[in-house]
Amino acid sequence: MNRPVRIETPSREGKAPPQVRAGGIDDSPFDVEKVRRDFPLLKSLMNGKPLVYLDSAASAQKPSCVLEALNVFYTGCYSNIHRGVYHLSAAATQAYEESRRKAARLIHARSEREIIFVRGATEAINLVAFSWGDRNVSEGDEILVSEMEHHSNIVPWQFLCERKGARLRVIPIDDRGELILEEYERLLGPKTKIVAVTHQSNSLGTVNPVSKIVDMAHRQGVPVLLDGAQAIPHHRLDVQQLDCDFYAFSAHKMYGPTGIGVLYGREKLLEEMPPWQGGGDMIRTVTFDKTTYAELPHKFEAGTPNIAGGVGFGTTIDYLVGLDLDKVAAYERELLRYALATLSEIPQIRFIGTARERCSVISFELEGVHPHDVGTILDGEGVAIRTGHHCTQPVMDHFGVPATARASLACYNTKEDINRLAGAIRKALEVFR
Ligand code: PMP
Repeated sequence: MNRPVRIETPSREGKAPPQVRAGGIDDSPFDVEKVRRDFPLLKSLMNGKPLVYLDSAASAQKPSCVLEALNVFYTGCYSNIHRGVYHLSAAATQAYEESRRKAARLIHARSEREIIFVRGATEAINLVAFSWGDRNVSEGDEILVSEMEHHSNIVPWQFLCERKGARLRVIPIDDRGELILEEYERLLGPKTKIVAVTHQSNSLGTVNPVSKIVDMAHRQGVPVLLDGAQAIPHHRLDVQQLDCDFYAFSAHKMYGPTGIGVLYGREKLLEEMPPWQGGGDMIRTVTFDKTTYAELPHKFEAGTPNIAGGVGFGTTIDYLVGLDLDKVAAYERELLRYALATLSEIPQIRFIGTARERCSVISFELEGVHPHDVGTILDGEGVAIRTGHHCTQPVMDHFGVPATARASLACYNTKEDINRLAGAIRKALEVFR
């Protein structure tokens, strides 16, 4: 085959070029209606009503350009990567590795060697807990997590503690859902081997003071893993400035495909860590006597990866960068303010999580209505929210509730969505009066 195979990132239909002021600053307003047109599923009906999708904290919808990139890849240039000498395989490898470079640029990593492709945030944290943990943690050592962690940032550390006889210590939260930093300071000690906390809580919306958390740990020589699963679509991230040691995130929460995500790791630490899974792609040489390992990042990527997901992830990053994360953040801040003001007018609502620094997540209880009933009635009104413990059972225990109803916002939500949410909540209250 002589024809060059190119994997093109489809351009967004009808998207006008950004307005750029002299001096290079784009001052065009954030156009949510234009953004919405990029997401085909948002045009659907749910139970006969126009869909209001308020569950992006669980997983975000996908823009057409990402869907097209997957289609183009599967129909035009699909093959396995890294090992093929033929043209298709070289093109697929190039597209996959280009996504790694884009991910490195997105978070301002020093090099793409620091970008390990994984299934998602869960796998990223497990990788660190197994590989870094087994090498660095011994009996009597302590791992510090917080009370607001997702189970994905608790259970892998519990496994490690069980294997090593180490102890999991927990930084408590207050009744706003903010970390108690004095307690963090108190818990950080000579036995602490790693701090693993979330950048943004998925059940409370709290945005943690991660720079401070990293600084405090580093002053004691302790590395920090940040769970960025929720933060990544809402904030501009610079891992060098933040100076964290590991940062974990999933593409599907940032409008990308499922089954692909990133473990960012400081290169020096990744170099020192042993591989955690064995198989193809992660080796340099294999004999029955001895196996040597591939260079970073491949040392941690055993087996055929999610190739199409990786390629689609590259398009996702282009899309997100094209939206301008600073504009997205400002838009979402205003939307959250509007949502909280609107919902506060309903006297039967109790918000779970009222942190001063928060983003995109509104957890609540409705007096006299079980959260699951809230979810079901809202569904009938075309409003998709999540109900349950959100994989944060310790948070539910803290607030003394079995579950909450959670509406979560993304760049494609509007004030009209919030009005529909408020209307549907009022309907739920009527039904259960
Ligand atoms: N951490 C947080 C804060 C999350 O919200 C989630 C997903 N709900 C995860 C980790 C796990 O992400 P994934 O399921 O994509 O691995």
